[in-house]
Order: sequence, then C-alpha cells, then structure tokens
Amino acid sequence: MIKIENLTKAYKAKGKTIKVLDDVSLEVKKGEVYGIIGRSGAGKSTLLKCLNLLEKPDTGNVIVDGIDLARISKKELRLARQQIGVIFQHFNLLSSKTIFDNVALPLKLQGNHSKEETKAAVDEMLKLVGLTEFAHKYPSSLSGGQKQRVGIARALITKPKLLLSDEATSALDPQTTASILDLLLEINETLGITIVLITHEIEVVRKICDKVAVIDAGKIIEEGKAFDV
Ligand code: ATP
Ligand code: MG
Repeated sequence: MIKIENLTKAYKAKGKTIKVLDDVSLEVKKGEVYGIIGRSGAGKSTLLKCLNLLEKPDTGNVIVDGIDLARISKKELRLARQQIGVIFQHFNLLSSKTIFDNVALPLKLQGNHSKEETKAAVDEMLKLVGLTEFAHKYPSSLSGGQKQRVGIARALITKPKLLLSDEATSALDPQTTASILDLLLEINETLGITIVLITHEIEVVRKICDKVAVIDAGKIIEEGKAFDV
C-alpha cells in the first residue's frame, strides 16, 4: 500500500544543514495500523507529511498503491490525496459553522455532490463517530475528545483508503484517548482503512498498532511487531 524508499530531507538553519530524514525506508501493508514513535524533533511529523506530499522530500520515493507521488501530474496528485485522510493534534474547526457543515467541508470543496448525497454522507460519518445529536451545534460547545471525533469524521468523509494521524490523542485524558483509539480500531476493522499514526505514547502503540517503527534523529532505528516494544 505504502512504500517509502530512501527518503532524505534536510533543513538549512543559520548556514548549518540539519538532516531531518536520513535514508528512511518503510512499507505499510493494506489494512495495517502502523505506528511511528520517537522523541520530540525525531522527524515523525515530517515523515508523515511526506506521505501525502505536504512536505517534499529532497530525495527518495513515496509510492502509494503503486503510484510514485513525485511522478504524477498536479491533477493526479489531487485525486491521489482524496484517498488520504489526515488528522492532526491541533486542527481548526470553523467556529461559525455547525458540526454538520464542518464535516461536509471536504465534499463541498470537491464540488459535484448533491445536497442529498452530502447529507447522507455526513449523517453516516456523524453516526460512525457517535455525534449524531451534535449535527446542528457549533464547535465551541464540544469537548476536546468530541472535537477530535469531528476531525476524524471530516478526514473520513471522502472515503479515503489511508488515514494519517499525527498525535491525535496526545491532548486528551486517558478515558477519552481510549475511546478515540477504539474508534480508530473500528474504522480499521470495519472499513478496512490503513492507518499510519504518530504517537509518543507506547500504550497507544500496544493498544492498536500491528507494526511500529522507532525513529530517532531522522533514522528508523527499530521496526517490528507492535507487541515487541
Ligand atoms: P514532535 O514530537 O515534537 O512533534 P517530530 O518528531 O514530529 O517532533 P518534526 O516536526 O518532524 O519532529 O521535526 C524534525 C526536525 O526538523 C526538528 O528539529 C525541527 O525543528 C525541524 N524542522 C521541521 N520543520 C522545519 C522547517 N519548516 N524548517 C526548519 N526546520 C524544521
Ligand atoms: Mg511532530
């Protein structure tokens, strides 16, 4: 499903070059929950952003479903990105829009969906994340965990095959974290969506990941089955 080959990326700061990704290769199979763990500044977020070309690697290949993302046209990249949902720790919900409209946004941006189609899709997503009765409320009335659920619903409404998650639970209390992790597992199992998630919590890895890569100073220093860590 995803193959990363020999990725490198460096930033220049005050005349010095800092390697953020240093020859990173990994493979994520279809349907896997793949964890990326490592200390702050290790390069985790940069690696995740390379997976949908929010960041461009200096060298190396990102191949998603057999397609080398660097070798396709802008239009094809836009289509490829529709197959990838993204959730971040801090993301913005539009405060002047209802939960319904926030979740509907990616479909609006795509255009070509009827009102009925959009409503059916949003209703399905709100049901999935357990927020049906919040459809006509505004983000300011939600808890942190509920906002995270809206983010997940919004990331999934285009029916991606791959979900990328960057510290989606790190600002949440243990109980809310557990419920979000259960939701991610349910999504993985019932919808067959491949998940790549970044976390600094080993418990998250133990609970829901099949495989894990440990990244340090831009290199993968360990990779294996999640229950070995
Ligand atoms: P955290 O756990 O704190 O989120 P991380 O593992 O996600 O850390 P990255 O955000 O990938 O780390 O950053 C890796 C390194 O690259 C850091 O040293 C960071 O300062 C540097 N870096 C990231 N983005 C840029 C940028 N746009 N310009 C310069 N340096 C950057
Ligand atoms: Mg990060």
